[in-house]
Amino acid sequence: MKKFCSILPYGRQSIDASDVVAVVRVLKSPFLTQGPVIEAFEQALCAYTGAKYCVAVANGTAALHLAVAALGLNKGCSGVTSPITFLATANALVYNGINPLFVDIDPQTANMSVDALTQVIRKDTKVIIPVHFAGRAAAMKEIAAVAARKKCFVIEDAAHAIGSHYSDGGCVGNCMYSDMTIFSFHPVKTITTGEGGAIMTNDKRFYDCLCRLRSHGITRDPLLMKKSPGSWYYEMRELGYNYRLTDMQAALGLSQLKKLDRFVARRRQIVARYNKTFNGCSWIRPVSSDDERCAYHLYVVRIDFKKFRISRRDLMQKLASSGVGTQVHYIPVYRQPFYQQKFKFSSKNFPQAEKYYEECLSLPLFPAMTDKEVDRVSGTIKNIFRKKYDS
Ligand SMILES: *Cc1c(COP(=O)(O)O)cnc(C)c1O
Repeated sequence: MKKFCSILPYGRQSIDASDVVAVVRVLKSPFLTQGPVIEAFEQALCAYTGAKYCVAVANGTAALHLAVAALGLNKGCSGVTSPITFLATANALVYNGINPLFVDIDPQTANMSVDALTQVIRKDTKVIIPVHFAGRAAAMKEIAAVAARKKCFVIEDAAHAIGSHYSDGGCVGNCMYSDMTIFSFHPVKTITTGEGGAIMTNDKRFYDCLCRLRSHGITRDPLLMKKSPGSWYYEMRELGYNYRLTDMQAALGLSQLKKLDRFVARRRQIVARYNKTFNGCSWIRPVSSDDERCAYHLYVVRIDFKKFRISRRDLMQKLASSGVGTQVHYIPVYRQPFYQQKFKFSSKNFPQAEKYYEECLSLPLFPAMTDKEVDRVSGTIKNIFRKKYDS
């Protein structure tokens, strides 16, 4: 039991007393939802990222669903994304009746390969959804150039990347290279609201549409309504959802956002520490190389399990019994039975994603980890391999 309690997870939220105070303050206020803290959180996200508009929603999946919906695409067109992502990225296309296509990854970063992207895009492709995997910004300038040439919209899945920067130094979420960018505030992500998400955009039309879709498709704007007989009146002009965030969650988000830069700085220190200890170990290759622009949602390493004759399952079990939790990010989405049956993808088209999936493993990474804990993780792995290979 004691061992189980002390297991280091691959990720974990950091909540302190100031977060608790912020949430309790809202609980004692008149508004638990649709109150003023939502707008304050949205404005703070705009100020942080540099985007003009923000719509806070119930979770990152809802953010993706609405972002795609706001594009107003016809059903039956196609959209492309990376296979090395959480299911929600591709599901957002399917929710909207759009056929998902996957682009093989760049093995250096596990982000969408721009070369592969140009080959996968079809005439009917209307949207590209790059994922900033593990926090590292995708090649947005190049992707935006492809999108302009092919007349596609771009939605960035930045669920891993709040606090990261593009190669030009701009803050992820500023929507310089995209129509919209989404964040997730699930507890494993860099800041949390419990469940929560947000869509950033610089386009007022998308913003207005997202606001309506978040709350049943309702508008009260006299300019948009057929008539305006009184203050009670509203119109529903399109089918929306209840994807609202609560004020308690927004208060937690506001409080967490103040600590984002500190969280990111600590994540970078931990990654640098891991990388230093693994430097010179031929059997392990960090995907998360030192990069001062990256907010590091995950610490992913690649191990050629076949070559080193250890199965990933065995390694994960050995690590777990030493109190080290690990995870696989991700099973390529096209491998899922739903996607196999409905869209008939062949793994052969994704050699880099397949190789990556065979080799990847995420080690614990969260701001509250101590240096000692980091060293315990790397030491435990090193010991397992040392026992196997040293005479
Ligand atoms: C977490 C995550 C999502 C979904 O966010 P939720 O808030 O859990 O709905 C989408 N895309 C990626 C890449 C994620 O990691």
